[in-house]
Amino acid sequence: MLSAGKILKPKTNQKLHHSTYYAIIGLVLLVAILVLGLEVLALKPTFKIIHSRYQAKDLQHHYSKTSTPPVVIKAVVAEPVANVPINSSIHLPILLYHKTPANFDFQMKHLADAGYTPVFMQEVYMILAGKMAGPAKPVAITFDDGFSDQLKAAEILKKYNFKSTFYVFTGGELSGWCIGIERTSTTCGDSYLNWAQIKTLQGSGLVEIGSHTVDHLNLASLSEVAQRFQIVESKRILEQNLGVSVLSFCYPYGNYNAITERLVKEAGYNNATTTVGSEYQGPNSLFRLSRIRDTKDLR
Ligand SMILES: [Zn+2]
Repeated sequence: MLSAGKILKPKTNQKLHHSTYYAIIGLVLLVAILVLGLEVLALKPTFKIIHSRYQAKDLQHHYSKTSTPPVVIKAVVAEPVANVPINSSIHLPILLYHKTPANFDFQMKHLADAGYTPVFMQEVYMILAGKMAGPAKPVAITFDDGFSDQLKAAEILKKYNFKSTFYVFTGGELSGWCIGIERTSTTCGDSYLNWAQIKTLQGSGLVEIGSHTVDHLNLASLSEVAQRFQIVESKRILEQNLGVSVLSFCYPYGNYNAITERLVKEAGYNNATTTVGSEYQGPNSLFRLSRIRDTKDLR
């Protein structure tokens, strides 16, 4: 046993020695493969992270050394004005008229002298939606209700080559206001633009026609079905008669609720005006645009 052990022992040791030797080689090779693999997989991104950290640190160091602050891009905002959050609005006055004011020529001259460029409501939409760069000092001139008296203003606007938007309603004999485009002053005390006059205005290239509903009712007081009719049907009638898309809307009396706003959007209009008095428009208020009633405060 001993002799056999003596004989076997070196053999076993040799075997052990060899297998250990192979195991170590195998382990070394495995570690080498793993390290190489990890290098390939992980080295590049690691380098990138370290590199960017280095850059950031280096830039921080650079700026603290030279006291030059990093460039911060600020949104272009309107000049401060009372009660208007300056970081969310731009100066884009929208004028609201009904009958032609006695001093309308004077007001338009003021706009021209002050360097304003009148734009259509569709352009107001595009400026606020970031779809076009507006003129340096944009202004929109709007007329509500389609009184035939507004033809006087249209003549003055033509003289200045000023664009404007006329909001008309399409109500016929059933109109609650006793106002329809084809009606005259004989029964209702006022006369209104007829289709021929509206088409002439639109054909001048200086007038955009917007919708002011069918019957000039207080939309917020109506059911959703009744509101939808006023909003959708007026658009359909105007487009059918004028042969162009009607995309600007004006709330009668400036009254609307959340349903009105949704229905106006759903009908396919892209903007709507109220009677809230401000010269500033928010980019998120395309369906709640403010209007002022005179040019006297415009600088
Ligand atoms: Zn009105």
